Amino acid sequence: MANLHIHQFPALKDNYGYLVHEPSSGATAAIDTPEVGPILKALDENGWKLTHILNTHHHYDHAGGNAELKAKTGCLIVGPKGEKDLIPGIDRAVGDGDIVELGAARARVIEVPGHTRGHIAYHFADDHVVFVGDTLFALGCGRLFEGTAAQMWNSLGKLMALPDDTTVYCAHEYTQSNARFALTVEPQNKALVARAKEIDEKRARGEWTVPTTIALEKATNPFLRAASPDLRATIGLAAAENVDVFAETRKRKDNF
Ligand code: ZN
Ligand code: FE
Repeated sequence: MANLHIHQFPALKDNYGYLVHEPSSGATAAIDTPEVGPILKALDENGWKLTHILNTHHHYDHAGGNAELKAKTGCLIVGPKGEKDLIPGIDRAVGDGDIVELGAARARVIEVPGHTRGHIAYHFADDHVVFVGDTLFALGCGRLFEGTAAQMWNSLGKLMALPDDTTVYCAHEYTQSNARFALTVEPQNKALVARAKEIDEKRARGEWTVPTTIALEKATNPFLRAASPDLRATIGLAAAENVDVFAETRKRKDNF
């Protein structure tokens, strides 16, 4: 049953916060806790009570509000087992394939290490949505703070394997600068050129470019396009393994 209500709101400088509400039970989860004020305001505006926090990874802009929200609401905190010592107030540590129930809704946990070593995503398959934290961005991917390029490439592969119509909720509005970089490695990609233009128009109107979809990212995101002959030609790695093309693309973005 596709019936989750998802409320998106900006937090901190360029984060997005999300509330996921399952109406039959009233269960409501915050996906990460970038900033307490906007989360409480969003709960209040919708008339929802916080029952869960679902953390994707331990960074402060994702788990920084855990303690205060738990103290205020008594919510259950679910987070990655690979970072359980780093997630404030964690009650349940989860890993690959675990199911998190939010009322009648079920999220499957996908381990996506790379940005951090225990990073996880939450896939609500019945609702065709995935919350990916700082692993996959619109036209980008997370920096490799704790993991290797090979780990991240494997993690992105798990996300690419989700159905094309899956809506992808990322944790930051980085799309416009990601687009500028993407155009330098695959300028021949017409879908990318068109998307970059659309992004500039949206941002000029102050609109959000998140969420995105798996299909759109596979067509335009250079970090998912290691197999593209045009991208390979541009960065001079025509015959390399996909993982090495990804690693070089990530390195170029770090220096962009
Ligand atoms: Zn992060
Ligand atoms: Fe972040």
